[in-house]
Amino acid sequence: MNKQLHIAIVGAGPGGLTLARILHLNGIAVTVFEQESHPLERPQGGTLDLHEDSGLEAVRLAGLMDAFLAIARYEDQGSRLLDKAGRVLFEDDDADGDRPEVDRTELRAMLLQALPADCVRWGHATREVQATDDGRWTLAFDHGSAGPFDLVVGADGTWSRIRPLLSPYRPQYSGLTFIECGIDDVDRSHPKLSQLVGRGKMGVEGDCKEIIAQRNGNAHIRAYAIFRVPADWAARRFDIGSPAAMRAELIKEFAGFSDEILDLFRASNDAFAIRPIYALPVGHCWTNRRGLTLLGDAAHVMSPFGGDGVNNAMFDAAELARLLTTRSDWAEAVAEYEALMFARVVESAAGAAEGAATQLSHVGQELTLEMYRGHVSARSAKA
Ligand SMILES: Cc1cc2nc3c(=O)[nH]c(=O)nc-3n(C[C@H](O)[C@H](O)[C@H](O)COP(=O)(O)OP(=O)(O)OC[C@H]3O[C@@H](n4cnc5c(N)ncnc54)[C@H](O)[C@@H]3O)c2cc1C
Repeated sequence: MNKQLHIAIVGAGPGGLTLARILHLNGIAVTVFEQESHPLERPQGGTLDLHEDSGLEAVRLAGLMDAFLAIARYEDQGSRLLDKAGRVLFEDDDADGDRPEVDRTELRAMLLQALPADCVRWGHATREVQATDDGRWTLAFDHGSAGPFDLVVGADGTWSRIRPLLSPYRPQYSGLTFIECGIDDVDRSHPKLSQLVGRGKMGVEGDCKEIIAQRNGNAHIRAYAIFRVPADWAARRFDIGSPAAMRAELIKEFAGFSDEILDLFRASNDAFAIRPIYALPVGHCWTNRRGLTLLGDAAHVMSPFGGDGVNNAMFDAAELARLLTTRSDWAEAVAEYEALMFARVVESAAGAAEGAATQLSHVGQELTLEMYRGHVSARSAKA
């Protein structure tokens, strides 16, 4: 047990908060420094599915399964695949699935409620990490600093400020850009769209473009229009400040798709966002450096194809917490965590990279159909 350790976690995303919770549960105090000024400063993003042996295992180790069951949506695990004419190519309601959906905002709120009120310091964007003479670390913010800490954990996502102290790699653009939009009150106000998307996720591919729409909680649908384009294309092509123009231009981009699909854009609220997708190289790793480590997207951001990002982040946190609480030498615990994590995430990083490389190719739809059919066969083989 390393109860006297001074640990700072940079970033209050699902990874950082899971680590803080499990350490707290085991009597190790930590401080989380988060750049956002409060938990609701920005929408936290869409729905996530937690997987049995990673995200859900972390929830169990955090002692939060009951709280999770209160916010989990087991009923929203379905999948639909359509062609651009709106014909259904595949449909599966997966009502008995073991990958429950949860809204990201609710997941964060659940983790925050399970921490002491003063554990997260909001409005603390880490700008720099400095070494002290005795081999520890201080964090510098715009207004002041904190430390020294024995261990700083970078859980600060894709553009981590901690990563450059460990690795020269920067995330590279994957070639794919997502334009996000959202439809509110879908069951009452847009029943046809509610049916189109179904209980889970609906995908439609054609002309090397794709739309993915996902049911979130509170009758909300989040949709992504996906393009294979240069990283700055969307910012040049769309006027994000003009929702009416966004709707019209997205409909133009998807000309030839059925009207019922284009209704997703017509019904969108005004909150559009441009999300170019970045990823670190598959197999990204670094040489252990005393007192610093990374978890989640800071360590291995990957494209969202495969849906493993949050699951990896939460499982990294659970593994690091397990080792810190069971090994007598904390520095060895961190080195062991890193070695295990590097090996563990290679498979999902490779899958996500392949997904990003083949999505929107001329065989993209065929490959997606093959993947869905594979899931169904694997499920029947298990039953
Ligand atoms: C469009 C899209 C769809 C996705 N869909 C899925 C999905 O369906 N399933 C899935 O598993 N994953 C999905 N992901 C990936 C998933 O969102 C991430 O893998 C996951 O959020 C990683 O968690 P994290 O805690 O490591 O980092 P993050 O969630 O990025 O959290 C990092 C935190 O650090 C804070 N921070 C950043 N910089 C600083 C700083 N300098 N100082 C202090 N705080 C800082 C941020 O504000 C944030 O709160 C998707 C990603 C995208 C882009």
